[in-house]
Amino acid sequence: MAKYDVVVIGAGAAGLTAGALLAKEGRRVLVTDRSPWLGGRAMAVPDEGFKVNIGGHLIEDPGSGLTKVFEHVGKELVHGEVSHEMPIWDNEKGWGSVRDRYSGNKAELKKVIKALLDTPYEELDRWDDRCLRDWIHQYTDDQGVVDLFEFISVLECMTDNWYDHSASDNLYVRKMHFAERGTAAYSCWPGQGWDGLWDDLADALRQHGGELRLGTTVERVVIENGEVKGVAIPREPRVLPNEIFEEEVIETSCVISTLPVWNVLNVVDEHELPEWYTAQIRFLAQDRFRISWLGLYLATEEPVTHYDPRELATWLETPSTNCTGFMFDQSAMDPSCSPPGTHLHVMGAIIPGSKGRDRRYLRETFEAFERDVATMWPGFEKPIWRRRHLVFEPSFGVIQMPGLVGTYRPHWRAPNVDGLYFASETFRSRGIGTDRAARAALTVVEDYLGRRLATFGDGWRY
Ligand SMILES: Cc1cc2nc3c(=O)[nH]c(=O)nc-3n(C[C@H](O)[C@H](O)[C@H](O)COP(=O)(O)OP(=O)(O)OC[C@H]3O[C@@H](n4cnc5c(N)ncnc54)[C@H](O)[C@@H]3O)c2cc1C
Repeated sequence: MAKYDVVVIGAGAAGLTAGALLAKEGRRVLVTDRSPWLGGRAMAVPDEGFKVNIGGHLIEDPGSGLTKVFEHVGKELVHGEVSHEMPIWDNEKGWGSVRDRYSGNKAELKKVIKALLDTPYEELDRWDDRCLRDWIHQYTDDQGVVDLFEFISVLECMTDNWYDHSASDNLYVRKMHFAERGTAAYSCWPGQGWDGLWDDLADALRQHGGELRLGTTVERVVIENGEVKGVAIPREPRVLPNEIFEEEVIETSCVISTLPVWNVLNVVDEHELPEWYTAQIRFLAQDRFRISWLGLYLATEEPVTHYDPRELATWLETPSTNCTGFMFDQSAMDPSCSPPGTHLHVMGAIIPGSKGRDRRYLRETFEAFERDVATMWPGFEKPIWRRRHLVFEPSFGVIQMPGLVGTYRPHWRAPNVDGLYFASETFRSRGIGTDRAARAALTVVEDYLGRRLATFGDGWRY
């Protein structure tokens, strides 16, 4: 008998969710990650007294996703500070609030919200190849209402043009947020911090008998005659740097890979999968479909905003770039992110994924962006600390444009290999970021178990 019922590759939001849920359901489960840190793309790590994240800024779960996962495994996802107002920068008018800048007719807005609440999730699945504006125009022509929905899509999904905002993916999230929180867009800081979040899930995994191996790279999923047999781990440490095929096989009949489309074929031999399926993966993995931005951490001794520092500020263009973006004061959300008496701000200027390897463009745009943020918030003229980072490898996710979402993404079950699943927000899934990853993992876990988990009710699954 294999040592584990399930081996999960990756200890990010999806891997820890899958591992903790399966352990809670009595399965012998091992979660591995090549990194020494928990959290994958949402890890938080110390750097010269500050705490910085690869990703993971705000959680967009209104309550039925990642929050329920915590509940099911006996933990609590603490909903901490919330952004309410959304200050917006305009190159002519300066700072203003979303309410002033994007006010449509209230009755028309209510009509659209009601129509959305009345539309079943399954009906939204039929809009995978259509844009958001087409769906809204069934109910109103009010441009203010359209602008409001589309503005949230710019921020949440980093899509730019009106024809690039996918109807289905955007409306799933809007419907959830309206239904569960009575608001268009809900986002909060995790009360236990991003590192505390993943520590709690890892703790739940272990408490229920699961195992975790960090710093352990899976070289390949071992597949024989269309069945999963295990995962191969290379010998460590290697003595010859070019050592190859010296591996330990950990036996299991089920593997859940949480690797995104960009690197999943490094561990699953593509010859084991149908050509049309790997073609879907490769199509989505193209640079131009990666959500990418120029990331910047700037610390100051004083807060730089004249509005509530907990607000998530946004813009469609900076004074000298046409990059949309965001900024918030992370220390206002969680003072433990920076040394006492300092404020750590995180911000990003969104760039086309196709530019992610163009070093000259990246450097020039970074410099312009840094000059611009000092215009938008003069307090950034003399930061006491800075970390530039490029959001490309890894990316936030695959861009959620029509034709790139829903059924256009590869299914979570490998079509022809027994026991091989893909739980990733870059595969078939709905939601935003870490919550989307957790929901993808829940879908796979329930598929593997062959039943629904009662904690999650009868709500939508994907
Ligand atoms: C800059 C940025 C900002 C973001 N902001 C937010 C936000 O504000 N809110 C939000 O909810 N989401 C945000 N996200 C998105 C969020 O981080 C991801 O959606 C989520 O973390 C994905 O989780 P995952 O488990 O599916 O994948 P990942 O986190 O990518 O996990 C995959 C794991 O697999 C491991 N791995 C890879 N190869 C191997 C191997 N061969 N063997 C073993 N392990 C391996 C990796 O180390 C990684 O830990 C952001 C992302 C980025 C990059």
